[in-house]
Amino acid sequence: MSAAPHAVRGHETNAPVVEARNVTRIYEVRRGAWRDSAKLTAVGGLSFTVGPGRTLAVVGESGCGKSTLARMVSLIERPSGGELTLAGMDVTHASPAVRQSLRKSVQMVFQNPYGSLNPRKKIGAILEAPLAINTPLTAAQRTERARSMLAKVGLRPEQYDRYPHMFSGGQRQRIAIARALMLEPALVVADEPVSALDVSVQAQVLNLLADLQQELSVAYLFISHDLAVVRYIAHDVLVMYLGLAMEQGEKTRIFERPLHPYTQALLASTPALGGVRKERIVLKGELPSPLNPPAGCVFSTRCPYAQPVCTAERPALRPVDGRQVACHFAEKFTDSGHTGAPAPLH
Ligand code: SF4
Repeated sequence: MSAAPHAVRGHETNAPVVEARNVTRIYEVRRGAWRDSAKLTAVGGLSFTVGPGRTLAVVGESGCGKSTLARMVSLIERPSGGELTLAGMDVTHASPAVRQSLRKSVQMVFQNPYGSLNPRKKIGAILEAPLAINTPLTAAQRTERARSMLAKVGLRPEQYDRYPHMFSGGQRQRIAIARALMLEPALVVADEPVSALDVSVQAQVLNLLADLQQELSVAYLFISHDLAVVRYIAHDVLVMYLGLAMEQGEKTRIFERPLHPYTQALLASTPALGGVRKERIVLKGELPSPLNPPAGCVFSTRCPYAQPVCTAERPALRPVDGRQVACHFAEKFTDSGHTGAPAPLH
């Protein structure tokens, strides 16, 4: 692809595409009979980077703040605090004009491709629309780009004239991916992009995403509740709970030996990509309300290893065994320390 339309990919090679430093998102909400206002911390201070050609998977149960994070990185919402940069440009405090100019550098792929594709438009028109708005390309050039992108995502040139309802779910997600890539973005934020697809189709779409990443060096922020999918696609993982990072670092380390009890529970309850389910460790209780998070460690109400110190002091995110973990007892779960894991209290 040519370098014409995009604003960001030409940024210094290997410099982070996204950099977050202590990013927060706090909402004012009304509650109770008196409608008094309260603060809801959806994202409570996240720091991470995503480099070109890398995939950071953000995982956690629904309500953990991962979709709020996706909206901030996609420039749909502004952070309440911290620093969020896209290709070195601060988007937290940027003017609306600067944020607008960066929008084409970040594209989204959603869970439901049918809902995000206009049913009255042919696929060719859907793919060409971003080019018509954002580039000076002629109609013939736009058509050529759209046809070539169809081929890249594994569709046939004659499908250019068809409507979204004429495609299967997997093909529609290929079209959504094609549309996201038309402007050669530096980053694609993919929010549960395969969770609505059959497992066999999931693998095809994940392979396509991986192939396109290799070819185009695009970075992915991949939002998912499914660790089987994350294991397949991610380079790095950020495990979130109640708006905070519980564990983050390289995927291989985290999957080989998860050090946070929440990561351990998520992994134990994850079916493998082949559909084989390991022994299931069910998390106790409900996710607490983010309006009233537990004191100390936010995971303490569901953690089988909780000790008195856990409710007294919030564990800081700190380096342990080559990744970052927010648990007072993380060392106990390492290879060398596992014999001293704290005894379950409940
Ligand atoms: Fe469990 Fe305590 Fe670690 Fe929190 S700090 S995850 S409650 S052991």
